[in-house]
Amino acid sequence: MYCPFCTEKDTKVIDSRLVASGLQVRRRRECGQCGERFTTFETAELVMPKVIKTNGTRQPFDENKLRSGISKAIEKRPVSVERVEEEISHICSKLRALGEREIYSTQLGEYVMDALRSLDKVAYVRFASVYRDFQDVNAFRKEIEDLEKQTQSTEQNG
Ligand SMILES: [Zn+2]
Repeated sequence: MYCPFCTEKDTKVIDSRLVASGLQVRRRRECGQCGERFTTFETAELVMPKVIKTNGTRQPFDENKLRSGISKAIEKRPVSVERVEEEISHICSKLRALGEREIYSTQLGEYVMDALRSLDKVAYVRFASVYRDFQDVNAFRKEIEDLEKQTQSTEQNG
């Protein structure tokens, strides 16, 4: 980063250490131009967005709730706990990557659908049928057909 004293672009890190039980990095820097020293602190920004429910209320994102939702969908299906945890951390990093303060529960629902689609097709359809609240048989059939097309193209590609 630029020197805060003379705005020289080239500053050198002369010391770097973990502080706050490893949650922060403290760096001493020295400016190559004016020779001033200054300190920077680096922390990870791990703010999860609030979830906007369909009735407009906001709730804090709940990883356990997400886990139990996915577990329920894959009940009695051959899916390992490891794979579930992979998908959960994938969803969490997608949420963090958004950098939004709030997201709609429908968007979170789509992420869960993506996760289930890659975990287990039967679990996906099971969840989708409830989540999407299919109004008629045709809507449900279309979803299955789309799924089959995707499966076929995946097989052809790989
Ligand atoms: Zn300087």
